[in-house]
Amino acid sequence: ACGVPEGTEIGSQKDRVVTEEEWLRKWEMGNIGFHKEQGHPLLQKYLDVLLNGRSGLKIFFPLCGKAVEMKWLADMGHSVVGVEVSEQALKEFFAEHSLPYREEPVPEISGAKKLRSTSGNISLYCCSIYDLSSSIVGKFDGVWDRGALVAVNPCDRQRYVSLMITLMEKNSSYLLVTVSYDPNKHKGPPFYVPESEIKSLFGNRCEIKCLQKLNDFSEKHRQWGLDYFLEVLYILKFVA
Ligand code: SAH
Repeated sequence: ACGVPEGTEIGSQKDRVVTEEEWLRKWEMGNIGFHKEQGHPLLQKYLDVLLNGRSGLKIFFPLCGKAVEMKWLADMGHSVVGVEVSEQALKEFFAEHSLPYREEPVPEISGAKKLRSTSGNISLYCCSIYDLSSSIVGKFDGVWDRGALVAVNPCDRQRYVSLMITLMEKNSSYLLVTVSYDPNKHKGPPFYVPESEIKSLFGNRCEIKCLQKLNDFSEKHRQWGLDYFLEVLYILKFVA
């Protein structure tokens, strides 16, 4: 399934920066074409790979937006932690699933707050992911990274991955969705992250396996000027 060759380097995307303010504006303007109302088919398909027969896991959703998969996992009895700079996104998440929540302070991070479902098993931090640490959120048994690494500014990838590694428990699993397209034809986000870069970012800390490449090309991508667009799913195992 993963035999599609990689050729293109990230080229012109290397120096592209999207600011927090720009992300907040996307939410205000409703420019959230990345949001999947029905959830992601690859998580449905590979859920067992993430959970590996375990129950009551602590699952992290970096750069979570209002991803409906958080509700799926909470409904299965797992405890879900997300982080997102847009408070609007987090409020929409709770409203759209009719979940009551409370706002709690996060004393360790100035300006941050936590929106926690009254039932207690969904905690969403409203702050930058770079403000988090394992002393604040603990460590995780699983991660669903979709629209996260690919949304991080290319210059911040190493910082992001180094932080994520500090948040992983031993024997945890990390499902990572990247995208593949010609980066000379679209500026992103989502940014193109080549397989070679996944290996150099995570490689010495975990086993990496590509599970699937999925053709996701649509009219939107054609309008971006692209002629192919793939989603690539990896499973990372933090063995040591
Ligand atoms: N993972 C979600 C959202 C993807 S879009 C999904 O699959 O639908 C990327 C999200 O990251 C946006 O909602 C944006 O507001 C948020 N974001 C961008 N930079 C961030 C940062 N440094 N810390 C936390 N959230 C961030």
